[in-house]
Amino acid sequence: MKILVINCGSSSLKYQLIDMTNENVLAKGLAERIGIEGSRIKHKPTGKEEVVIEKPMDNHKVVLEIVLNALVDSNYGIIKSMDEIGAVGHRVVHGGEKFSESVIIDDNVMQAIKDCIDLAPLHNPPNIVGIEACKELMPNTPMVAVFDTAFHQTMEADNYIYPIPYEFYEKYKIRRYGFHGTSHKYVSLRAAEILGKDIKDLNIVTCHLGNGSSVCAVQGGKSMDTSMGFTPLEGLAMGTRSGDIDPAIIPFIMDKEGMTFDEVNDMLNKKSGVLGISGISSDFRDLEIAMEEGNERAKLALDVFVNRVKKYVGAYVATMCRIDALVFTAGIGENSSYIREKVCEGLECLGIKIEPELNNIRGKEAFLNKDLTAVNILVIPTNEELMIARDTKALI
Ligand code: AMP
Repeated sequence: MKILVINCGSSSLKYQLIDMTNENVLAKGLAERIGIEGSRIKHKPTGKEEVVIEKPMDNHKVVLEIVLNALVDSNYGIIKSMDEIGAVGHRVVHGGEKFSESVIIDDNVMQAIKDCIDLAPLHNPPNIVGIEACKELMPNTPMVAVFDTAFHQTMEADNYIYPIPYEFYEKYKIRRYGFHGTSHKYVSLRAAEILGKDIKDLNIVTCHLGNGSSVCAVQGGKSMDTSMGFTPLEGLAMGTRSGDIDPAIIPFIMDKEGMTFDEVNDMLNKKSGVLGISGISSDFRDLEIAMEEGNERAKLALDVFVNRVKKYVGAYVATMCRIDALVFTAGIGENSSYIREKVCEGLECLGIKIEPELNNIRGKEAFLNKDLTAVNILVIPTNEELMIARDTKALI
């Protein structure tokens, strides 16, 4: 069976067509600038040249039509007919408390996803648009929703309840949800596979370090705690997001700068994190280069980022008593040997000892520790699309 995996952002759409008989990717692509001037799709069929399709694309339905045509195109297509697509798996950011697992999409599920818009006003609407566009274009193809929050629904109340009046949880469902769940689940399962152990017997800390970053304590295959919270703003310092700050800073800045709620929200989400500290870039490659050239604020931004990761790793080792594996994944975790080295520096007391000569790798699975009695330190490239396709296959 072939499964189409769709990940819709507000102006982007990522897709992969995966052959589930061998889990090979048949084609993948990215549509950018949907609804804005200069929209285009980069379509890469496996084993063939990448094509760039540039034409006006007003909405996600138009994009999906072009993608489906590209998949069956006589030159750069990869399947003969759309009938070969057995199911579509959609990434949905927020499933609230309703979804602790992936589900087949029907009218009730659609309504429940819409009910979560309040919790993820930037993310769920484009996910819904993508599902609706698919429904129109492929009305007879089953569709599955895979939620970023679902994996973390195993957290206990003492980890997800905020210390604010309980009525806000009851009235508005304000609690920790956690995100990147599909990625944390994938890499923790893969770590167990690599270690040749049953995941039920393992305590793992997974570090998804990318443009958005989060850490997760995975105990016996279940998310026990994670650094992102009610929204993906909490936790680590990120590319442009602040992560944890004293909440009193918000009214203070609003007062001093005469800022509105929207402006503060924008500042915390888009102008903070390592970009805010360095004043240079949200991209860790730029920051590492600037630091090597002697830029003090680039170094400070990286130091703050590293410190936060260490604090969460330490906290999660403490809550689980011991860990069997520490996993690095996503853009920074998979590629930056500098960040991995700095995160592990000084954590020898927890059994975390990285070998510099093993750490010089990028974008592939690897062990970074030599001492077999110590914590296994692993780099595992994440594969959210495959996880979505697996869940989709299992459900239909
Ligand atoms: P992601 O959100 O997982 O796609 O990660 C994207 C981020 O990974 C980029 O913004 C960079 O900060 C970071 N990244 C990618 N490649 C490298 C690299 N070679 N060294 C350091 N950081 C990298």
